[in-house]
Amino acid sequence: MRRRGDEETGRRRDGKSRQKPEDDPRHSHASNRAALPRVSAFPRLHISESPTLTHRPSKRLGQNFLNDGRIIDRIIQALDPRSDETIIEIGPGRGALTAQLVENSAAVVAIEFDRNLIAGLLERFGSNENFKLVQNDALVTDFCFEIKPAAQARVVANLPYNISTAILQRLIQQRSCLTEMILMLQREVVERITAPAGSTDRGYLSVVVEAYCETERLFDVAPGSFRPIPKVWSSVVRLKVRPRPAVSVKDEALLLQVVSAGFAQRRKTILNNLRSAPTELQELIKLHGGASIVLCQAEVDLRRRAETLTLEEWARITQAIE
Ligand code: SAM
Repeated sequence: MRRRGDEETGRRRDGKSRQKPEDDPRHSHASNRAALPRVSAFPRLHISESPTLTHRPSKRLGQNFLNDGRIIDRIIQALDPRSDETIIEIGPGRGALTAQLVENSAAVVAIEFDRNLIAGLLERFGSNENFKLVQNDALVTDFCFEIKPAAQARVVANLPYNISTAILQRLIQQRSCLTEMILMLQREVVERITAPAGSTDRGYLSVVVEAYCETERLFDVAPGSFRPIPKVWSSVVRLKVRPRPAVSVKDEALLLQVVSAGFAQRRKTILNNLRSAPTELQELIKLHGGASIVLCQAEVDLRRRAETLTLEEWARITQAIE
């Protein structure tokens, strides 16, 4: 779930969270790295500690819990978990989606950051052989490692709003072991990631998602389906990881650098944005004759703005400097 303020910059550039050290699971030893089926590294609960009784939703962790059985069912139907597959759930929270996942999948790997929710999740699902709980920040989690012995998994998540785009980028980075993601995001974010060339909503993330995933917008979710009630609507989207990127460039990291530089200042033309690209990229562009020559070679009009460029055009600019 996400609301206003859900920015691609929602995290520090070094990818670390803004959590205080005492809240940061990386400072604890609770993160479970045992192979499936399940965790037992957590202390037993006393009834008085039960998080279902004491847990207060944290705004900072984007905790707007699903509270609508019909929406939960629609998400599960969209995912349609199979009894022979591994499902990763990011941010299980109080387990709204987890219950049906545990029932229907071969293995569920749930990654929860909030240590205050861990005991409640274990209390509810810990006895299921196919449930593994990882207390960690999804932004630094190695998904491909956590799903072992499985080689591939699908992802489902009602993402915390403030870092949803950062988590999405992390998932795309780790796409080698992911085949599909059913994600609930702030509606504006879904509009951005599904925006075609020419739309004012198009941005860096739209191009990156298009390069690596086929997207299908599934349905919108009203604020009243969550507790606490957020201020904005959400949308559920299906992202199918492409077996190969939609465009072929030799250097995919360079493609991402070019797109990022192109969108640096939305009101500027692509020419001016490439001229003021970060030093390393500028050097490369100069080596190939400068930004105008590169754009001419790529057959992209110098006066265009980044949001009008198609993925193929971004790829042609990249190919011109590879
Ligand atoms: N899945 C539950 C539901 O639908 O009711 C909870 C969704 S709530 C919008 C987001 C969940 O993500 C919360 O449980 C929150 O603690 C967790 N979370 C927040 N930041 C996280 C992070 N960096 N890594 C993993 N989980 C995180």
